[in-house]
Amino acid sequence: MNRLDLIACHECDALLRKPHHAQQMNTRCPRCAALLFRSSATRLDLIAALAVAALITFLIAQGFPIVELDLNGTTSQTTLIGAISVLWNDGMELVAVAVFCSTFLFPLVELVALLYVLMPVRSGVVPPAFDLVLRTIQFVRPWGMVEVLMLGILVTIVKMTSLARVVPEAALFAFGGLTLMLAVVVMFDPRALWDIADALRPSPAPRTPTHGGIPHASAHRR
Ligand SMILES: [Zn+2]
Repeated sequence: MNRLDLIACHECDALLRKPHHAQQMNTRCPRCAALLFRSSATRLDLIAALAVAALITFLIAQGFPIVELDLNGTTSQTTLIGAISVLWNDGMELVAVAVFCSTFLFPLVELVALLYVLMPVRSGVVPPAFDLVLRTIQFVRPWGMVEVLMLGILVTIVKMTSLARVVPEAALFAFGGLTLMLAVVVMFDPRALWDIADALRPSPAPRTPTHGGIPHASAHRR
C-alpha cells in the first residue's frame, strides 16, 4: 500500500483512501463529515495572483499613513508601525506585540509562505522545506487579524470625527482592499497543495491496487 494514496481526517483521525481528482470535488470524511478537500483547490493561478496583489497592497498599507487628524490647525498622522511604537513606548508592550504579530508579522509570513510554495508548484516543482512552510501557513493563519484591525480603524474614525477633522490616507484604502483580498486567499486550503505535491514527487514505493479495509473519502461534485 502506498501511503501517498491515504489521508487522515483532521477531525477524527479516520484513515481514508484519497479519491481520484480530489481537488475538483468537495470531499468529506464518511465518519464525521468533516470537509477534507474543497473543490476550489485547483485555482492556483487565481490564488497566486491574489497573493501577489495582497502582498503589494500590504506594503502600501504598512508604508503609508492611515488617517490624518486635524485639530484646530494642528495636524497629526501615523502609520500602523508608528502606532505600535507609541503603544510600546507608553508601557503597553504586550498589546504592542499582539498588534504587531496579528496585523503585520503573521499576515506577511502567510502571504510570503503561500507565494513560496504556490509559484514553484504551478511550474511543477516542489520547493525545499515544502512541508514545513505549509505547516507554518496553517499555524499563522488563525492569528492574522487584518479584518479586526480594519473594523477597529473604522470605529475609531467615527468616534474621532466629533473631536477633530479626520482625513483618510492611502493606507486606509489599502487596508480595506487587503481585507477583501485576504478573505479570498484564506478560503484556499493549503492542504490541497500537499496532494498536488504528492503527485509531483517521485513515489517512494510501488503502488498496489488493493487497500484492505480502508474506506474511501466521500466525494461530491458541486
Ligand atoms: Zn472524520
